[in-house]
Amino acid sequence: MSETPAGGAAIELEHLTKWYPGSPRPAVDDVSLEIRAGETVVLVGPPGCGKSTTLRMINRLIEPTGGRVRIGGEDVTGIDPVRLRRGIGYAIRSAGLFPHMTVAQNIALVPEMLGWPGARIRARTEELLDLVGLDPGEFHDRYPRQLSGGQQQRVGVARALAADPPVLLMDEPFGAVDPVTRDRLQDELIRLQRELRKTIVLVTRDFDEAIKVGDRVAVLRERSRIAQFDVPEAILTNPADAFVSGFVGAGAALKRLNLSRVRDVEITDYPTVTVDDPPQGVLDRLRSSGTDEILLLDRRGRPYKWLRRGDLTRARGSLARAGTPVHGTVTRDATLRDALEAVLTDSSGRVAVTGRYGRYTGVVDVETLMNSVHGLLEADRLDALEHRHEPAEPRAGRTHAEREGVEVERKA
Ligand code: ADP
Ligand code: MG
Repeated sequence: MSETPAGGAAIELEHLTKWYPGSPRPAVDDVSLEIRAGETVVLVGPPGCGKSTTLRMINRLIEPTGGRVRIGGEDVTGIDPVRLRRGIGYAIRSAGLFPHMTVAQNIALVPEMLGWPGARIRARTEELLDLVGLDPGEFHDRYPRQLSGGQQQRVGVARALAADPPVLLMDEPFGAVDPVTRDRLQDELIRLQRELRKTIVLVTRDFDEAIKVGDRVAVLRERSRIAQFDVPEAILTNPADAFVSGFVGAGAALKRLNLSRVRDVEITDYPTVTVDDPPQGVLDRLRSSGTDEILLLDRRGRPYKWLRRGDLTRARGSLARAGTPVHGTVTRDATLRDALEAVLTDSSGRVAVTGRYGRYTGVVDVETLMNSVHGLLEADRLDALEHRHEPAEPRAGRTHAEREGVEVERKA
């Protein structure tokens, strides 16, 4: 497997097919996909559609029944799977760390197998802990049970990257952590990838995650058949068919909030005063505006503080000490998602919008944003998809596909 300057290697899937023994139809049916060196491609689809099977055929944890995988141009379906896997990082849901080994020992697994000298392994382990945001001094000798889910997941990623493989496969890597941690880990992965430019294939059932971390996204239907393979914007704005639009709808509105801008919604005018106005004048202004709150601007016209009636009566002469400092502002180019984030962080339900040089131009409130969200949610089919059940273990007897097949036949 040859490395490219991008740090990654291209992956080509050619007519890749998997029949599990005894199954009436393939779990993966004739999938062809070209993944460029250094890009992150996300395979997203409903539970049981064949995502994991597809991914594991790339490192041959599962042997294909038909078709071919090329990595960096080389056909890897013929080479020794153990050797192959040493050149491919693999990270899974709930990290899969060995509980009796320390963090450092877990990370060192592949370098040990490759026979790296001890000093090099130690240096690499420190470097990786740092890379995934864990203080080496603190975490080096801990055991997995002494870590939170998110920390374990970070160690899992560090382990997958240990031998600096050109390819990283990730199977629902953030599926087992809480939403806040998941969001942070996704941000970290994006940051990491900007530095490393590995070729990453990530599998998820979470469409929001797919469009967030993917350079390109393959939406898969049953038997891993590709419904659409494109950049996130194209999938969101131009879903190929009803299946894809159903899936796009299924992640709720946040993803479309990423495509809409503050300039697209109503920006209201708010009563403002500047720091040079006398408090009495401010109070008058507040009364005449009929609101409870006023925005104090600094001498350059930038949002400075939110002032309420009570703040003013207490201020007595100095506005500098009154009110609540403005924490976040957004520009007209910010996404609605950023705006919503800012509004929700600030418990009073509005965010100031700024223009050139950070100057105040208006305010967007939570109602306006929620109206946009509701508009976007109308077509949403979140429930229908989320309530589908994924078999916990590969089952003997009837497969998911078989049960689906039976249903389809009954309907027909
Ligand atoms: P996903 O990762 O998208 O949830 P999988 O690739 O795990 O889907 O599974 C695809 C299909 O193959 C499912 O119908 C599943 O039940 C079946 N399957 C997975 N592993 C096995 C196995 N070892 N033996 C038989 N069937 C399997
Ligand atoms: Mg899976």
